Amino acid sequence: MIIIASANGDIGLKQGMDILKKGGTAIEAVESCCWPVEDNPLDNSVGYGGYPNVLGVVELDASIMDGKFLRAGCVGAIKGYRHPISVARKVMEELHHVMLVGEGAEMFAKEKGYTAENLLSPEAEKTWKDGLAGKFGPEWANDGLANIKALISQASALATDPQKVAGTVNFIAIDGHGDMASSVTTSGWAWKYPGRLGDSPIIGAGNYCDNRYGGAACTGLGEIAIRTSLARTTVMNMRFGMSVEEAVRAAFEDMRALGMPKDKVNMNMVAMDAQGRHFAMSTNPTADYAYITDSMDAPALIPRARFEV
Ligand code: ASP
Repeated sequence: MIIIASANGDIGLKQGMDILKKGGTAIEAVESCCWPVEDNPLDNSVGYGGYPNVLGVVELDASIMDGKFLRAGCVGAIKGYRHPISVARKVMEELHHVMLVGEGAEMFAKEKGYTAENLLSPEAEKTWKDGLAGKFGPEWANDGLANIKALISQASALATDPQKVAGTVNFIAIDGHGDMASSVTTSGWAWKYPGRLGDSPIIGAGNYCDNRYGGAACTGLGEIAIRTSLARTTVMNMRFGMSVEEAVRAAFEDMRALGMPKDKVNMNMVAMDAQGRHFAMSTNPTADYAYITDSMDAPALIPRARFEV
């Protein structure tokens, strides 16, 4: 039994492994692992405390995938519910659909008994306001939101701070039956255009899992993972005989075809094959990922391989 995660997921790994040790499923574990991260106000990329869209509203994306039957559940641009991963799981298990977005996702969350709340933490609100004030000058101080609303797309592009765009959490687990599951949850690109979906809720882009071959999940610039179907490409590479490391490297090679300036390419992946061999890669010079096995008392952080674009 094993669970791997992006580095910010280390706070959820122990409780996920406890579930597996008690005979729980990979699906249960990867959902549960997300909760401490979604609750963590210091993680500005996930759940409560996540950075908002350009209008100051926290919009969350999440997906969960069952590697045994290739079932999936996703929610996109959901507002006011701090555990989108659980709403995604309920979409997978209780609806005939795979994905709900916006108002429909919120309606479903409410129907399932989740309580709506304001997810904008005081710290995230301050960072958002200060960031926009820095970009738009004193008029922001007087009537900032009205100014932003006049030209939202320009505001979103201008306000994007490259230091703050990134973050999401990934988990991939193998349970005691050898079944796999994966989960991804995020507040997405900070100061994004309202309604923007990243890769995290898109099965095949930011998340993919298949018991027969393995799983892969992404963080980074979601638009890249969408355009390259990065997670499923990685799993298909394993299907066609590559090792997990070869599969990730070959999938990352596809990013060269995008014609993007090298300094704009920001991508990270954790991947694991069906036997529990794992590998993680990043375009950033120093990045870690986390894992825990049933023989470990606590998770370990280990370095990702670097991908030079
Ligand atoms: N992949 C996420 C998104 O594009 C953000 C991130 O991981 O940095 O929404």
